[in-house]
Amino acid sequence: MLKARTWWLFWLPKYFWITITPNIYYPSNIDQLKLCISYKHLIAHENAHLKQQKNNKLSWFLKYFFSASFRLKMEVEAMGMESYIAEKYYNLTYATDCLLNNAGNLSSHFYFWCASYSEAKNLIEQHWNYLKQNPPTEDPFDGICK
Ligand SMILES: [Zn+2]
Repeated sequence: MLKARTWWLFWLPKYFWITITPNIYYPSNIDQLKLCISYKHLIAHENAHLKQQKNNKLSWFLKYFFSASFRLKMEVEAMGMESYIAEKYYNLTYATDCLLNNAGNLSSHFYFWCASYSEAKNLIEQHWNYLKQNPPTEDPFDGICK
């Protein structure tokens, strides 16, 4: 379920989204009516985390915080999906901007330096290409956007 972020997410940079199953929290400056129109790529990113957390949310978060390789793997899945959806619903330029921003974020303090910029960029791009060749059969907005 999409929810505007609440006070206890104060520690998260204010333009970051976060998923804590069953909720996806979006930055409170985003117009709720535009979520499912202009932010499909970020919803699909967070939906990938929803699926990852489905079986055991607590162990997912522990591994996410303590293992750089697990964090990288989880984000590569979500960020590859983000670029795939951005290209599908918006355009290639926007999808490429997402890729480059995400590679920058993954190699920074935001994700506790879990990869170098070029490693992050290559891995996300590989997953994006994989999705283009093997389009997901599940609707990434099912139960989230009408
Ligand atoms: Zn993510």
